[in-house]
Amino acid sequence: MKCEYCDGLGRYIPAGRCHYDEVREEYYVVCGKCGGTGEVQSIKGVLIDPEKRTVSEVDVVLDHEGSSLHGMYDVLGCSCVDVGCGGLSFLPSRPDDDLWFDDEGLFRGDDCGCFMLPNSVPLVGRGLILGCDDNGRSIGHHLTAEDIDVLRSEVVFMDRLVAGK
Ligand SMILES: [Zn+2]
Repeated sequence: MKCEYCDGLGRYIPAGRCHYDEVREEYYVVCGKCGGTGEVQSIKGVLIDPEKRTVSEVDVVLDHEGSSLHGMYDVLGCSCVDVGCGGLSFLPSRPDDDLWFDDEGLFRGDDCGCFMLPNSVPLVGRGLILGCDDNGRSIGHHLTAEDIDVLRSEVVFMDRLVAGK
């Protein structure tokens, strides 16, 4: 998919004075998201958003080294993530996927909301479900359409007062 962080040519303009394009007569810096290609790879995740009270599939952008970390930061709206494993066994296909969440959610404002999955404690902020390969690298999620429906009906959204967090 097209990189949304630059001009589609792999450049931020006018974000710095790093390189000079003599044809276009402008300065640019190479886009760190796509590595200057204008194209990014992405993987599919499932986002749990307690502010909007929705569960939906999202694209998580990979950087030019194939890491999803910064894409996760963007989707989760945070800069530090933590992960829980094995918490999705209540879903019909029992996916072995990871649940990522904001590691600093407890320090956020009161309006960010909380959510809770079956057999789990409430989490503050958003949650993101991604798969994981044998090397520990995040890949697309493995939830079926039925899993996502069940997730939607089982997730409990609450504000922070109710969650006691
Ligand atoms: Zn870019």
